[in-house]
Amino acid sequence: MATGVLLFLMAMLPRVLGDERRMAALVKFTARSFVTSFPVPFGAAIVETVSGQLLLRTVNAVAQQFDPTCHAEVRAIRLATKKLKRFSLAGYTLYTTCEPCPMCMSAALWAGLDRVVYGATIEDAARHCDQITVPAREVASRGDLRCVVEGPVLQEECYGLFTHPVMLRMFEKWRPAPAAGKPGQHA
Ligand SMILES: [Zn+2]
Repeated sequence: MATGVLLFLMAMLPRVLGDERRMAALVKFTARSFVTSFPVPFGAAIVETVSGQLLLRTVNAVAQQFDPTCHAEVRAIRLATKKLKRFSLAGYTLYTTCEPCPMCMSAALWAGLDRVVYGATIEDAARHCDQITVPAREVASRGDLRCVVEGPVLQEECYGLFTHPVMLRMFEKWRPAPAAGKPGQHA
């Protein structure tokens, strides 16, 4: 029994460490937005599942592109499929600093991604901005398409993006939402 547990941990450890390393890099990448005109806590990366090779990283561009669907995950998927010139991302894993909203999780399923690994949870994000609080695992379980959802990974570090002073000031601007619309919602 103990040997079985040990073997399981030895098999899992490289993947867990790889996930943490890639998420840490994504947190740093996302934090770079704090010195731009469009600070966001939502970043996403697409990585080849087997090799761990990075394909691309990006951040939410809802405000920048006047596109309410331009969440980090959807944007990463669009950029990746264009880069690869194919509509399937089978063989790839999506890392995201925040649990995907139902739109982004659906996009991940339609893209055929192997895995989605998230940092902060939707509940974490909902403390600061509007969310559709359906867990990503629930969205993934409702369809015919398969995608492994894992997280939270480095939740504290990812949530730190939401509680950074720059973001706390920005959330205040997002909050009083006049009819004209508020800029950067969710991932
Ligand atoms: Zn989303």
